[in-house]
Formats: sequence, C-alpha cells, structure tokens
Amino acid sequence: MAYTVLARKFRSRSFDEVIGQGPIVTTLKNALAQDRVHHGYLFCGTRGVGKTSMARILAKCLNCLAADAPTATPCHECNACLAIARGEDVDVIEIDAASNTGVDHIRDLRNNAVYRPTRCRFKIYIIDEVHMLSPGAFNALLKTLEEPPDHVKFILATTESHKIPATIISRVQRFDFRSIPAGEIAGQLAMICRAESVEAEEAALKRLARLANGSMRDALSLLDQITSMGGKKVASEVVDELIPATHDELFADLIDRCADGDAAGALTVADASLGRGQAPDVWCTLLIAQIRDLMIMRVCGPDTELVDAPAGLRGRLAEQCLKFDGGAFVYMITVLEELRRSVKASGAGRALIDAAVIRLAEASNFSSIESLMSQLGAPSSPHVPVTNTAAAPRAPEPATKAAPARKSTTAPSAMTATPPPRRATQADLRAARAEPLVQAALTAFGGQIVDVQQNVTHDNGATSQAPTNQPS
Ligand SMILES: [Zn+2]
Repeated sequence: MAYTVLARKFRSRSFDEVIGQGPIVTTLKNALAQDRVHHGYLFCGTRGVGKTSMARILAKCLNCLAADAPTATPCHECNACLAIARGEDVDVIEIDAASNTGVDHIRDLRNNAVYRPTRCRFKIYIIDEVHMLSPGAFNALLKTLEEPPDHVKFILATTESHKIPATIISRVQRFDFRSIPAGEIAGQLAMICRAESVEAEEAALKRLARLANGSMRDALSLLDQITSMGGKKVASEVVDELIPATHDELFADLIDRCADGDAAGALTVADASLGRGQAPDVWCTLLIAQIRDLMIMRVCGPDTELVDAPAGLRGRLAEQCLKFDGGAFVYMITVLEELRRSVKASGAGRALIDAAVIRLAEASNFSSIESLMSQLGAPSSPHVPVTNTAAAPRAPEPATKAAPARKSTTAPSAMTATPPPRRATQADLRAARAEPLVQAALTAFGGQIVDVQQNVTHDNGATSQAPTNQPS
C-alpha cells in the first residue's frame, strides 16, 4: 500500500479534531445550530494552520446527505462527505486561485453558480489563495458575492489578507486563523506518534513543534522526515542530525569579531560568508535571525524556550550572548534590517554591507552609551532616569523608530554602571553629541541628550525643552 503522508492521513475531519482554532469552531457551530450560515466566509492565516481543512469540514456540515439539514456533526460516511474529504465533490468546487488568476475562470464560476447543485443542498466554492485573483476576477467575484443565489456558498482562503479588496471583505464573514502554539502542536504530534506506534522523546517532539512555527502541516512533514529516517523512533539526536539548528559558524565568528570591535576581522569574515553565494537580503535575514537568538537569550536567560537551539549549541550561544547587552542587539538588528531593505534596491549592495559590518563592529562600543550618558550628568542616585530621558522619543516619530527606543530602556539594568558623582559641563554634552555612535543612536532611536541637573538641553539648535525629570 502506498504511504500516505501524515499531513493528509491526520487532516482534521471534524470540528472536534481541529487543533488550535477554538473560537472559530465555536462560531461556526453556533451558526449551523441557529441556521445562520453566511453566504461567504474569508479564512485568513499562514499556511498549514487548518484553513482548507476547516473549509472542507464546513462544506460537509452543509452538505452531508445523512442529515436532513445542515449539521455540526456530519456523518463522514455518505458519498458527499467522502468526496468532499478528498476534494472531489461535484457540488463542492475547489479552485486554486494561484493557478486560475484570470477573469475567465471567475466568469465561468458565475455562469455555473446559477445552476442548482447536483445532489446536495448547496453549491460551495472553496477558493484557495484568493488574493492571487486579478482585479478583473475580483470584480466578477464581487458581483456574485453581492447577490448570490440561495444555493451558493463561498469559502475564500488566503495567506495574505491585506491583498483582498475591501469591497470583498465587507461582503463576507472574516475569520483569522491563529498560528498554532508550539505546545498544542507537540501534543498533537505525541497523539499521532501513539496512533502510529512510534516511540517519541518529548524533547524531540517539542523541538519539531518549535521548528514548525505555528503550522501543523509543517510539523507533520517534519515528523514524516524523521520517521522515514529513524524508523519507529523519534529521538533528539536524529532530529538534531537531520535538522541542524540554523546556527551558522561564520555568522558566529562575525559576531565575535564585532564584539571585539575588530572591524577589519569582521569584514574578512563577512567576505567569506558572502562568498557562499547567498543573495544579500537573504544573508541579512539569516544574520538577523542569529542575532535575534542571542538577544532573546541575553534577555530571557540561556534556557529560554523562545530560541530554537539543540542542547549542544546552547552553551555556546549563552556564552556569546553575554558579549553585548540588550540595547546593542536591538541596535544591530536595526542596522541589519535597514541594510536588508536597502541592498535590494541599491546597485552598491556590497558597499552597503561593508559599511553596515563596520557599524556592527562599533556596536560593542554602543553598549557603553548608557554608562557614557550617565557619566555626563547623572547625580549619584541611580533612580534618576537620565538614560530614559535621553532615549525617549520627544516628538511623534515613525513607529519603527519609536519601538526600539522603548525596548532599549527596558534592557537589563545590570548594564548601567554606577555613575560617578560629577556634574556635566556644556562641553561634555557637546562632546557626547559629537560622538558618531551617539549620533547613530539618536538617529536610530530618536531622543535628545539632557543634563538633568542643569536643565540644559543640548540639541544642536533645535528647540530647548525643559526635562520633566527633576532631581530632588
Ligand atoms: Zn455525510
């Protein structure tokens, strides 16, 4: 017998088997019980979270031949239920909009929609990846959605809801499918392993669940891979061997050089890393992911579940993450994200990358900005939030810039050195403002340098503003 992949074998068949979408199940069950099923639904959510399964379940509920009316508990045995489960029913038409983007398909659909269903109560159109339709096709679909025949239901599914015209969204009932929490995925994997008589280590299943990133389908294809390699056993070693952590040695080396402030070394390692042929924006994305792991470990501790790392690597990461403080990681990610966006558009991609690497190599100094600032004007009391005043955005700024600023102030306070009791002079403030790193930080996060003791704002000619934090 041919092997059926787990994702298909264990596709949820009824509302009760759906994982992680409780509120949507409840709403649909109520609609069925009260005979208030809408003529159009829009299922939004990332791939593998159960949109198509839910669409087929709803279709079975509406069309099950064993029931006299729409039911929340279809029989799963009648010809309609069986055909719908296979995606082959005559009255439940599944359309993949990704390969049928044109207006002609939707016109055909409109022309056919007027005919009554062949054997069931409703003619149900399930349109997957509906955001791929052309504008003309959307218009044609809209006309049908405006005045649908009573016997027609639409279930639209999309991974990119922002691409759906508002006119369509206002004609349908929208459900947002959430990413499935790793815990629920791990539980489902354990259940499936029991059903398949596969022996599974809990830690291994947890790692698979984390790697799946909220997608049940991805989790199941990973499990498929592991069982085809490890036989009837899912062991951590097999998982780690087959799916090594996305940790990259050259990136780790690059980050080490940056920590040492060794710009020349960092450039050399970056050159070797880029020589492997990744597109520059992909390179940025991967490096950001690795720095993100370090940042999370720095803030949440080395054992955090928020980072996917095999046990063998964790110690190494835990060590490396201590080389920067939280604020420096935020700064590095900001620099790299800026780089990622600009390398795509620029012809000078390599120069931009090298410039960014030099900025990263200076990020080790960046971690001392807070202590630098506190030296500039803080009284001996550590409670006066000098650095907070400096980092707080003073005017409405683009959200992307304001957000990291707030994060940087919540970074571990351990990094703030005890400030010496020295009063700052105007020259100190001017010198601080002239520091390239301070400038970079102010540009990245906004804010201004304030001498709290003297109520002086040094802001290069911009309006002076009395600070609100007065020392007592
Ligand atoms: Zn049935």
